[in-house]
Formats: sequence, C-alpha cells, structure tokens
Amino acid sequence: MTEPIREDLAAIPRYVPGKALPEALKLSSNEVPYGPLPGVAEAIADAAAHVHRYPDMGVVRLRDALAARLGVDPERLATGTGSVALIGHLLQAIASPGSEVVYSWRSFEAYPIAATVAGLKSVQVPNTADHRHDVDAMIAAVGPATRAVIVCSPNNPTGPAVTAEELDRVFDAVPESVLVVVDEAYREFVNDPALPDAVERYGDRPNAVVFRTFSKAWGMAGLRVGYMLARPDVADAVRRCVIPFAVNGPAQAAALAALGAEDEMRRRVALVTSERKRVVMAARDILPDVPQTQANFFWLPLGERAVEFAAHCERSGILVRPFAGDGVRVTIGLPEENDAVLEALRSFAA
Ligand code: PMP
Repeated sequence: MTEPIREDLAAIPRYVPGKALPEALKLSSNEVPYGPLPGVAEAIADAAAHVHRYPDMGVVRLRDALAARLGVDPERLATGTGSVALIGHLLQAIASPGSEVVYSWRSFEAYPIAATVAGLKSVQVPNTADHRHDVDAMIAAVGPATRAVIVCSPNNPTGPAVTAEELDRVFDAVPESVLVVVDEAYREFVNDPALPDAVERYGDRPNAVVFRTFSKAWGMAGLRVGYMLARPDVADAVRRCVIPFAVNGPAQAAALAALGAEDEMRRRVALVTSERKRVVMAARDILPDVPQTQANFFWLPLGERAVEFAAHCERSGILVRPFAGDGVRVTIGLPEENDAVLEALRSFAA
C-alpha cells in the first residue's frame, strides 16, 4: 500500500464471510434457519416510520431491558453494530504502543483483524489436539505487555466451550489489570449445565468482559446488534469509542421485540441442539475426530482436504465454511439440510 495508508494494514487477513448463493443451502455463517422471532418484523415495520430521525444514541430502552434480564446496572452495558464492532472498540480502548492481546488459534477470524486495526499485537496460542482452548498455554502467554485475553466460548469455528474450572484458572492467574474477555456469541446454545455462564459466574470480577449478540440464537444477524458487559468504567470507555448511532432504530426496536419472544427463542434453540446431537453422532461415524460442540455449528477437521470438501458440498448446492489446510465449519440447519450435509460427507469419504 502507498502513503498515507498504514503499512501494517496490508498484512491484515480479510474477513471472509460465509458464501451466499441464491438457491443454495446456506450453512456457512452460523445463522438459525427459522426466520425472525415473532413480533420482530412488526417492530421493524413500526420503527420504519421514524427513520427520518436519528435513533436513540444511548440505546436506553434496550440497555435497560438487557440490564434487567442480566440483573446488572445498565451503566455496565455497551451496545454496538454487532458484537464484532464492539470487540474492535474494546481493543481500541485498551491499545497502547507495544501492547498485546492473547487469544487461542484457531478462533474467530475477526480477532486478528480487530487487534491489528486497533494497534495491538496478537499473541495466538494453538488449540489443543482436540480443538479446545489450551488454557494453561494461554495463561503462560500473558506477559507485561498483555492488555487482554480473549476466551471464545463456545469457540468459533471448532465448537467446544471452556469449563468453569478452566475459566476460573484464567481469572485466578492473570493480574486484574488484564481484561479477561469472554466471547459468548453462542452462549444460548450451551446445554451442558456444568459449563459456566460468564455473566453469572464472573460478572462481578473487575476485569471480566462478556460479549453477547442478537445475531445467532435471537435470529437477527441481518440487523447487527451486539452487547457487552463490563465494569462501568470499561463499558464507558467502549461507549466512547463506538461510532455515534451505531445501533439503528429498527434494530433497537427489533432487539426489544426479540427479548419479548424469549420462550420461542428457547424452543428454537432446543431444536438446534437436538439436531446437533444427532448430526455430530452421525458425522463421527464417518470422521471419528469431530470434536464435541456447544454451539450451532460443528467442525470437520479435514486438514488439507478442507477446501476440497467445501467444493464437493457446493456441487450439491450446500455452502459450508472451509478454513484452508485446517477444517470445515458447518452450521446446524433444518433436519433435511443436515441430512444433505451428512450425505455429502459420506460420499466425500467413500
Ligand atoms: N463472536 C463470535 C465468536 C462469532 O462467531 C461472531 C459471528 N460470527 C461474532 C462474535 C460477531 O457476531 P455479530 O457481529 O454478528 O454480533
């Protein structure tokens, strides 16, 4: 790149969205397949009459509703244009020359992008052989320049969540000046009661930051609403970094309506998790080392054959998300969609 563009931007890997082809079965972006929750489309239609005005910049009603739901003070919440934007803003808020952020790899592809844009050095800690965070190695990677450790639980794209014992170890090992950022984008899909809810278990720790989103279980990926819980001064710092009016009016109204349809959200999540169990068991008959998953997707550790499998799926009209040389992430869809993936896997392995 040429001046005045920053040289380090050229090295940033591009965010690769899951492909979207009309007519294809889209299992590449971890969305839920059921459409918006009841009341959401109506709330957007009502809000549409007001789009000549700026939205509520403080996102007061939505923050209050979230705060009541989580049992926290609204001052501890920040909202943004998807949690991906908020992750970027948090990193901007803590970056200083030479500072570092530790996270596992492979994990969510936005972390290295957000870190570089913010001016933080990424310290990537390889996952264990069974595709989990290597918590002890992550702790060992924390040094004097570390500003934050990101724990992605459940981990995108591999699926496992960290245990309470593992996350306790991280909180107990790192100094309070280092933020422990728990990205719980897929928290609603966790159905192992032994796994920690970071808001409940760590919400009162001064260095805890928890990210959640309306994009996944709440069925609002297209509207871009994410939120974050942190200590009041950390939340305030992030709100200062957020672009003004980041969450638009229809999105705020839709998120409030979605919260009113929580029972239906839970019913849909239960459909996803029961399919997940069935599909992972069937996939393991073909590829035994498919890791356990607590999210609405599963990981096929195909190594050098990852891209080839994605192309094989695409020929059958199925879009999945390959990570070259590593594996393929497949979103849990409707039963017949999942059957189509299993069939593609069987014919690929044959
Ligand atoms: N965190 C993780 C782990 C994710 O997988 C995603 C979406 N792919 C996000 C955050 C961001 O979600 P959104 O910006 O839609 O809230």
